Amino acid sequence: MLRESVVIARRLHIGGVVQGVGFRPFVFRLAREFHIRGWVYNGERGVEIHAEGDAGALEAFARAIGERPPPAARIASIESTASQVEDFAEFEIRASEKQAGPTVRISPDLPVCDACLRELFDPHDRRFQYPYINCTDCGPRYSIILGLPYDRPNTTMRDWPMCEDCSAEYHDPGNRRFHAQPLACAVCGPNVRLQVAGSVRYRATEAMQQAARLLRDGSIVAVKGLGGYHLACDARNARAVAALRERKYRKERPFAVMARDLEAARECVVLDADAIALLGSIRRPIVLAEARFELAGIAPDNRELGIMLAYTPLQHLLYAFGAPELLVMTSANRSSEPIAYTDTDALDRLDGIADAFVIGEREIARRVDDSVARVAPAGMSVLRHSRGFAPEAVATLPTKHPILAVGADLKNAVTLVVSGEAFSSQHIGDLEHFSAFEAFRATIADMCAMYEVRMEDVLIVHDAHPEYASTLHALTLPGKHVAVQHHRAHVASVLAERAQWDEPVIGVAFDGTGYGDDGSIWGGEIFTGSVRAGFRRAAHLRIAALPGGDAAARFPVQAAAGFLEQIDELPDLTAAPFAFPAARYRGASELARKRVRTFPTSSIGRLFDTVAALLGFTRESTFEGQAAMWVEHLARSSGPVAAYSFPVRNAELDFRPLLAAIVRDRIRGRSVDEIAAAFHAAIADAICQACDTLEPRHVVVSGGVFQNTLLLELLAARIGDRLWTNTVVPANDGGISLGQAAIAALTVS
Ligand code: ZN
Ligand code: ZN
Ligand code: FE
Repeated sequence: MLRESVVIARRLHIGGVVQGVGFRPFVFRLAREFHIRGWVYNGERGVEIHAEGDAGALEAFARAIGERPPPAARIASIESTASQVEDFAEFEIRASEKQAGPTVRISPDLPVCDACLRELFDPHDRRFQYPYINCTDCGPRYSIILGLPYDRPNTTMRDWPMCEDCSAEYHDPGNRRFHAQPLACAVCGPNVRLQVAGSVRYRATEAMQQAARLLRDGSIVAVKGLGGYHLACDARNARAVAALRERKYRKERPFAVMARDLEAARECVVLDADAIALLGSIRRPIVLAEARFELAGIAPDNRELGIMLAYTPLQHLLYAFGAPELLVMTSANRSSEPIAYTDTDALDRLDGIADAFVIGEREIARRVDDSVARVAPAGMSVLRHSRGFAPEAVATLPTKHPILAVGADLKNAVTLVVSGEAFSSQHIGDLEHFSAFEAFRATIADMCAMYEVRMEDVLIVHDAHPEYASTLHALTLPGKHVAVQHHRAHVASVLAERAQWDEPVIGVAFDGTGYGDDGSIWGGEIFTGSVRAGFRRAAHLRIAALPGGDAAARFPVQAAAGFLEQIDELPDLTAAPFAFPAARYRGASELARKRVRTFPTSSIGRLFDTVAALLGFTRESTFEGQAAMWVEHLARSSGPVAAYSFPVRNAELDFRPLLAAIVRDRIRGRSVDEIAAAFHAAIADAICQACDTLEPRHVVVSGGVFQNTLLLELLAARIGDRLWTNTVVPANDGGISLGQAAIAALTVS
């Protein structure tokens, strides 16, 4: 006998990243599966659903939404309330509310999904080998959006009208491509061209086949990606790699490598389950992992290799057409300029670097570099927050006021706070480069336009450094301005990720350079306090006189001259085993001794440089943090050793006993690996000593020095759960803007 089930109705509100990620067609398909009637639409604050059906089906429907959302969606909340039954006959997708609110989030760019990949390699599919295949679960988002709402006319796909077949898919709510804005096919959409020596030689499949052949033959090929061009070459071809370094003026900074698949990646780096998950995650970052062997010229003097998996259909196709399974995939630029993302810019700037260009016909709206992340002792650690992450909200701040935080001058990224949500931009770069500064200005304008905030209403936050380009630009913007000290911003960035505004903490900010309260160069600071109450400097590294300012950051020997000037009975360091280059070292020592052209500093970054110099890194450092990384990698080769004495006295971390011991050990012939390890242990020890003299609380660590995973491991072993580090934004200056925004949100009314 049929028993009539009781029909009830519920309203569901889904919050989070739920728009532009195929959420409505997903809900539509679920509704059909569970025989639910009603509607779904994109509201101002997320996805709204009216669902009618019997109680059991409704419950299963709601559970399925939470349990198997589309891959790119990130559900923050599901609110469910009882509603009136309106006797709908079916389930429908309703048009979106016209004025989407500012908090409607823009999805980051997504890697090609498995369903699209299957079609890409299915000879019977109409998108067989089509390099711009995508669906609501995958493809470009942030990098093609010209304005909101996220509809095709507001994307760089606006000039590619859909053919009948594509249009039918676009309008069919049961189709995986329902309202997929970048939807296209080979008939109606963009394709790729191969340009060699100034002229287009091939188009579409042939272009990709020829590009794969060039890569096999050792050529350097510029390939358009999601957020910019890459320079690609065979990672196993030492000659091609050397040529790329020479043409790009890139001496030693590591190149990222793209692997054809997970198997190829596992052959060259050590990956645990977490690293595999990160590598294949929807964010598809460059993952730093321990290399199994050295690829000549890829990452000199480095135990780690940055590796990523193919994420665009074009990259998959190049591999399918025979490209080498390990490809250097580095940002297309000269030296450390921003990545080239328009065709004309790429052709212009890469002339003389790339032998050929794979030019994609879909325009890129804004540059979005590859992100860099690794699995660290306390979870994921992001070193560069960019493609796959930006422009997601990284934190929620307790403020209604719009805030723009402009970050610092190195590794710049900006954060815009709208309705309390903090959106961090993609990585912009070092603002000393004019083109990066231009990108910085463009990104600020872009984000304000996208989230519809008027510059006049915005609270502007900048670093306390009066001469930073970011500070000077901030001061030209209308509205109220606030300066936030660099190292307090580092500490606040960790607390903002955790929404800890009142928790009193010990905040440890160790980095290379930041402008201190007294105008000196800080970088070894220990604070106490909270975001709301403010941070008091409780201890710091003993001050050293750094000779020669900025150059000291490039020449470890110069930093060493400054720090070692305070050590008694110093041997001649230009002699063995130190062999410091005599002219630079003697000149710098002279300045340090006479306090001429010296700058007082408490920078742990420069202390690392000093130790690097004592252990043999006496040449120029060619990228930020190189010497410190070198010391970390030495230390990793050592077994466990006792820490050097690094006493904390009168709120000062005294480096003198530490450096004196290192000099002695070097002369005694102790292995540099062991010395480096004992130095790391000493830093961890000093932090723990400082914490013991202050009240036992959570210990927050941030700043570029804490990209050092060995140091984090040592601290995690000692401090345990009380250790808080960055897991969402970088510990380096890429995370500064979030910390600036948090301090401003809590302290400026
Ligand atoms: Zn797809
Ligand atoms: Zn089409
Ligand atoms: Fe910093």
